[in-house]
Amino acid sequence: MKKSGPFWRTKTLGEMTTKEWESLCDGCGKCCLHKIREDDGSFTLTNVACRLLDVAKGRCGNYAKRKQLVRDCVVLSPQKMRKIDWLPSTCAYRLVAEGKDLPKWHPLKSGTPTTVITAGISVAGRVISEREAGPLRQHVVEWPGF
Ligand code: SF4
Ligand code: SF4
Repeated sequence: MKKSGPFWRTKTLGEMTTKEWESLCDGCGKCCLHKIREDDGSFTLTNVACRLLDVAKGRCGNYAKRKQLVRDCVVLSPQKMRKIDWLPSTCAYRLVAEGKDLPKWHPLKSGTPTTVITAGISVAGRVISEREAGPLRQHVVEWPGF
């Protein structure tokens, strides 16, 4: 029997159209923060953002050209999702991959991107650009949702 419901509940990541895939990103900006990979494989989170992130808005400064401008930017895909272990627990791609529903603050549910900020999920106004930060170890943070 065909499943009913919104696409993120009825389709796998690999079945989504490009438009659906792109709309799944909540724009939180948490994946754009630098992490320190430790010797034991764990990672330590920092509040230092990729140089292309608009730190006031918490959004990529040039999403369309991100890979050209930042070579180590990871452009997510269903295949890469199987290997990545550093996405925050709130990340919509991770939630769908784990068979979970989206939270009520997600723009696809609330109808507006502002709920990502009001729910305290967005990094907007809470991070520093790598252009100014200096050593990453000076910016280690605990971040709810990681
Ligand atoms: S953590 Fe996930 S939902 Fe948030 S900006 Fe990154 S890809 Fe989008
Ligand atoms: S290039 Fe854009 S999407 Fe990629 S990590 Fe930097 S700010 Fe994030």
